[in-house]
Amino acid sequence: MNNLEFFVLGSGSSGNCSLLRVNGNWVMIDCGFSMKQTKERMRTHGVQLEQIQDVVLTHLDRDHFNPVWCRSFLLRGIRVHIHESHVPRAIRAGLDASCICAFKNQLELHGADVEAVHFAHDVLGTIGFIFNTSSTRFGFATDLGRVPQNLLDRFVNLDGIALESNYDSTMQEMSNRPESLKSRIMDGEGHLSNEQSLAAICHIASKSDLQHIVLLHLSRQCNSPQIIRDLYQDNLAHLYKSVTITCQDRCSRLLSIANNVESTA
Ligand SMILES: [Zn+2]
Repeated sequence: MNNLEFFVLGSGSSGNCSLLRVNGNWVMIDCGFSMKQTKERMRTHGVQLEQIQDVVLTHLDRDHFNPVWCRSFLLRGIRVHIHESHVPRAIRAGLDASCICAFKNQLELHGADVEAVHFAHDVLGTIGFIFNTSSTRFGFATDLGRVPQNLLDRFVNLDGIALESNYDSTMQEMSNRPESLKSRIMDGEGHLSNEQSLAAICHIASKSDLQHIVLLHLSRQCNSPQIIRDLYQDNLAHLYKSVTITCQDRCSRLLSIANNVESTA
């Protein structure tokens, strides 16, 4: 089976976790929730924690890596795939070195080639992934702050993509957040606005055959699914039905990504 299956357990500043089924094996992308919440949400689509042998991390901010998992990863012998530049921080956070599989530009998971793309973002940067089975190619990127050229160069020929769409610019400007927080989010070190994310998706869609567009990390205070729906209807109408908007509090639907085959929801 070369298809990929994917769902988001939840995404936002209070926690991020997704599951991707690669050649029949479930892989966790980020682990920002408690164990209890994670197990409960996994059950939505019939997945058990015992089925997870690999975790890949985009970066180690608390909403993507909850240190409560460190002991469990060690006891269960779960491999945690971390970019080499993030390893010291992971160890400081309490992750045992024996759990860590460090990578630089590429890793292999259950027969799939996974390209790792390092994006400049705060001190250590964040990692985007492109998962390749023999027939299917899926990109994942979040917490970017800006759309770097290497994302546009590398995220091509995709069958599906998950990308952050954090805030509506007007809601952000009008919010009662401190100016320092607003500028930290919007100055290229924080998150992508809906407009920035859409522009990237439009570019990627022109070089891909996207079956699924999954939007991640929506701000609770400064975004709304309806604004995003309107934006896509107005600007990318032919792909509107492919868009899945994730939220913080519940699982997304289960998406099946197959090359040149109609997907099932
Ligand atoms: Zn985050």
